[in-house]
Amino acid sequence: MYTVKEMFFSIQGEGRNRGRYSVFCRFTGCNLWSGREKDREKAICNFCDTDFLGTDGINGKKYKSPNDLVNQALSIWRTSDKPFIVLTGGEPLLQLDDKLIDELHYNNFEIAIETNGTIKAPNNLDWICVSPKADTKLEQLKGDELKLVYPQENIHPKDYEKLEFQNFFLQPKFDKNYKKNVLAAKDFCIKNLKWKLSYQMHKFIGVP
Ligand code: SF4
Repeated sequence: MYTVKEMFFSIQGEGRNRGRYSVFCRFTGCNLWSGREKDREKAICNFCDTDFLGTDGINGKKYKSPNDLVNQALSIWRTSDKPFIVLTGGEPLLQLDDKLIDELHYNNFEIAIETNGTIKAPNNLDWICVSPKADTKLEQLKGDELKLVYPQENIHPKDYEKLEFQNFFLQPKFDKNYKKNVLAAKDFCIKNLKWKLSYQMHKFIGVP
């Protein structure tokens, strides 16, 4: 059984795969925040801008089997490109298992995951994007993309530079100080060329 908040076809708006057609599968639940506003202040991760509670989004429901979920993903794939699915959340590694990975691969999907890195990812995924959060223990120490929300208290980009990632992105924190955060992230990237700016295109062009 997989509890999914929403599943939809769109364009990846951030990171190295920006601009790529994708099925987004957002799993319900996260291990760093309950998703309820009343718990935000005490949450380990308290700046989340994603609704990952319940199953009330488009194509959201409890999928009974890997086949059930993959059939839904295939039914919304719209191009002749190799199908590409982004497993996100919440924290997708709370639910992802080998059976679902195998069923997605069997149906020719390339699988990307966006995780907070506190749970080790299976090694047969096609794209691993880790977004570390302050005051957590990072278990996933390698991958394709490290995407750090910036700025965060108690966390510094330099602390991650030695990890085994192919791409390093700074993503301005999307809060009331957004403009200031964009400038700070841009300044950091210009001074530290290992890092690239990840701009959340989807927030500005009206795609989910
Ligand atoms: S780890 Fe990600 S999904 Fe979980 S609360 Fe933080 S930003 Fe939201």
